[in-house]
Amino acid sequence: MFLPDNVMELLSKLHAAGYEAYAVGGAVRDSIMGRSADDYDIATSALPAQTEAVFAGYRVIETGIQHGTVTVIAGGAPVEITTFRVDGSYSDNRHPDEVTFTTSIEADLSRRDFTVNAIAYAPGRGYIDPFGGRTDIDSRRIRCVGAPDRRFDEDALRILRALRFASVLDFSIASATAAAIHAKRENLSHVAAERLQKELVKLLKGSNVFEILTTYNDVIFGIIPALTSISDWTETCRSVQKTDPSDGYLRLAMLFYDTKSAAVTKAALRAMKFSNRITDTVSLLVACQHYPFPKTKAAVKRFLQITGEENFPRYLQCVHIKKGSDIMPAIAMCAQIKQNGECWRHADLAVNGADVGNELHVNGQQIGKLLNDALNAVIDERCKNTYGDIISYLKGEEA
Ligand code: ATP
Ligand code: MG
Repeated sequence: MFLPDNVMELLSKLHAAGYEAYAVGGAVRDSIMGRSADDYDIATSALPAQTEAVFAGYRVIETGIQHGTVTVIAGGAPVEITTFRVDGSYSDNRHPDEVTFTTSIEADLSRRDFTVNAIAYAPGRGYIDPFGGRTDIDSRRIRCVGAPDRRFDEDALRILRALRFASVLDFSIASATAAAIHAKRENLSHVAAERLQKELVKLLKGSNVFEILTTYNDVIFGIIPALTSISDWTETCRSVQKTDPSDGYLRLAMLFYDTKSAAVTKAALRAMKFSNRITDTVSLLVACQHYPFPKTKAAVKRFLQITGEENFPRYLQCVHIKKGSDIMPAIAMCAQIKQNGECWRHADLAVNGADVGNELHVNGQQIGKLLNDALNAVIDERCKNTYGDIISYLKGEEA
């Protein structure tokens, strides 16, 4: 199995100091699948203080010392090193009441969520795979380590993680695990919105999102009740699947589009504790379905005022997918506006508020109104965007 040099270096330092140490988790899974892994986790028999002593010459960050995790910077990249541990009892469907360190890698792997995430590897020792994770990778299957009902009672976030991995990896979900997902979905109400939100976005960006959203609509509606108002859920899921998978804004906008309500979207995203930026962008895109599609350059400029440059292409994607509109002319007009540096907002006008105040001897509200008039006149090509033209246009209007 491929491991980058910095991870090899950390593993061999721990081995040389007499500890067991393995690469674990998502990076092992991804590398078996031939996918690139972005972060590597190491599990070790060394206690956190012992790990810190082994890496005395390195930059070490005590990331989650009470859970046994320290981060070591090696070859310029952070690597999390966590002491083998087992989780204590769970009384809240969220986190273990306590964690206990152990000297057994098998015990550490047994607390992990899915078999495909419960494989350890170290050069010289090969794979430690007590739950058949490699077989499940071959069969493209998400399966709980241990009894699914119990695992989803311990930590309900695993329900959403199962859907996320199935969506991203394009895996199916083993039948007992799937049954427990449906049966235990209400446990998700105990999970913090921030944790749900992160998994949801990853799920939405997955290549298998259509399948997961349609099959597990009960789970999705449980965490986002606003979506139950959608009349054709299958169509919504199809639209999500059609959008650029790397654009989380667009995928969220498609998820909410058929609620037809910016206010409903905004309230739902707020409840899930999405950032203001995401909430505002997604609800704006949902709102835009109610505005007439821009067919002229002036209309494109006015649409840009509503969406901004960044979100206009997203808006066009939405109407293309939902209404089958021909968006090429709008794309071309927008490109032309950009290329020519044509005026579509106040900042592009050849005059500013102070100019208007000085030239026309007005102030406050009046300035704002005149600037709007000037911008409209320029957009409609009733006036050129030069200082002289705009001032005489406004003076003429006053007279
Ligand atoms: P990603 O590619 O998103 O990083 P990952 O598998 O590395 O996927 P992480 O959330 O980074 O997922 O977690 C690292 C590992 O920790 C997982 O592979 C799994 O073994 C374990 N793990 C994470 N969250 C849980 C959980 N809620 N319950 C049990 N084990 C978990
Ligand atoms: Mg990870």
